Amino acid sequence: MGTDCLFCRIVAGEIPATIVRETATTLAFRDIGPKAPVHVLVIPKEHYADVATLAQGDPALAGEVLATAAAVAEDEGLLGDGFRLMFNTGTHGGQEVFHVHAHVLGGAPLGPMLARNPA
Ligand code: 5GP
Ligand code: ZN
Repeated sequence: MGTDCLFCRIVAGEIPATIVRETATTLAFRDIGPKAPVHVLVIPKEHYADVATLAQGDPALAGEVLATAAAVAEDEGLLGDGFRLMFNTGTHGGQEVFHVHAHVLGGAPLGPMLARNPA
């Protein structure tokens, strides 16, 4: 995937981001519009559109994304009180950036998983 993907451009260093952890295959950086006291995005450096494509295409890389997310949670002091790990996927999932990313959210009680407002 080339220059039209926002997160590929962050991987390439073309767009600045506050990077909190990097491995050979993954990158973790702070969300530009944090929804919790801690809000970090974890991505594979290689482009996959969403978590389903990633998990089916390269399960080992999906595991590396999870391992990086866990390391971020530990670094951010979230293991004691807990945190939320979330992959918004597709239209109904509310995904806005189509380079798979795990949201690591924590630092305060996050409330119910979903608002109870059935369509
Ligand atoms: P999604 O809705 O696709 O699950 O989440 C996309 C996330 O990317 C949003 O939480 C949004 O705030 C974040 N985001 C969008 N553009 C940028 C950016 O340029 N830099 C960073 N660090 N985060 C971004
Ligand atoms: Zn990409």
